[in-house]
Amino acid sequence: MKSYATFRRHPLGEVVARMNDDRHPAQVVPFGRFGAGQWTGHPIGLFIVAGFVLIGLIGIPEWRWFFGGTVIVGSLFGYSLWRRSIHGARRMRRAARLGRRPLQLRCGACENERVNPWLIEAPAAAMIAAAGMTAYGAVYPRAQLFGPTICRTHSPRQLAITFDDGPNPAITPKLLDLLERYHAKATFFLIGRFARECADLAREIAARGHGIGNHTDTHPNLFWLAPSQITAELRLCQEAISKATGAPPKWFRPPWGYRSPQVIPLASALGCGTVMWTLLPGDWKEKPAEWLIRRMQPIATHAQRSFNNEKQIPRAKIALGMTAEGEAQRSASGSPKRAASASGDILCLHDGWHRQLDADRTRTLAALEHWLPRWRDLGLEFVTIDEAVRYSAA
Ligand SMILES: [Zn+2]
Repeated sequence: MKSYATFRRHPLGEVVARMNDDRHPAQVVPFGRFGAGQWTGHPIGLFIVAGFVLIGLIGIPEWRWFFGGTVIVGSLFGYSLWRRSIHGARRMRRAARLGRRPLQLRCGACENERVNPWLIEAPAAAMIAAAGMTAYGAVYPRAQLFGPTICRTHSPRQLAITFDDGPNPAITPKLLDLLERYHAKATFFLIGRFARECADLAREIAARGHGIGNHTDTHPNLFWLAPSQITAELRLCQEAISKATGAPPKWFRPPWGYRSPQVIPLASALGCGTVMWTLLPGDWKEKPAEWLIRRMQPIATHAQRSFNNEKQIPRAKIALGMTAEGEAQRSASGSPKRAASASGDILCLHDGWHRQLDADRTRTLAALEHWLPRWRDLGLEFVTIDEAVRYSAA
């Protein structure tokens, strides 16, 4: 039995360009040392995985299998490659230190000598980038990759407070009273099955002038659902809310904020705009109210900073000889940072819990009790999503 391989220097470790022996004729073995019977990779496998990623991104029906399969297989592949590159390089170094030769090396003209390591790395990099983009588009609250969402108000003076996972008989009535005390309007993203169970409460939320949105019927992770299942979830919730309040909601928030390429188009087909947030303080966590109050500090900080900027802008405008129209155009096409400072927050809190009714959200109440008067004194106006959007159109 003869066995020989050639190694090439590469940033990720030695690449075995060629390894022929009697049992493994002419195999391509990337990244490190592989004996007979060990795992051997072939660039074709990575191309298949990269293809799955692309098909998944295009979003053909039943795409979720491609997506799910690709993420799992892709991460296994990536992990395996990474382990092997590290492991292989380590074994090489150890062999060198001990003065042993890791494999019987012999050079010669061989059909596999011109293996290009980029055959492995380019698809792997594409795969990792595609997985990263997918994760960003699906999870990041302000990502617009999978469709347009509303994630801020159009004036730093306007704060849109939103509540998810209700209605909740244990908390929502108290919350409505608290909001009324500060003349605050908010938007409630209701779960359909709870809206059916507590139709009176849903009706009262609407009657008190708050906005109502769709938060699906049973609060599933829509990322893994087929288009027909997503539509069913949205439609059932639409019906439950329409029945309770007399009007279908115009806004939708995906559970946990998870979106797939289908979610936003399906919601807008039912007449709902998708609403995300700028701040998610994590009021569902079992932490003291003081912790939650601290986590809501960015609202006040952002408002103060924006109001200070507002005061400074006129002086800058005079200095630069800019007109009001010029400024409006500039801010319309301005940098994201500038746009962000000229917009207000959408705060995402929870008056319910998606698992069951009567969840304890007294910390959320306590934190609002603390902040509502302070926000009001800062000069913030509490608006519904309807109002926030109406102002931007005007
Ligand atoms: Zn939720």
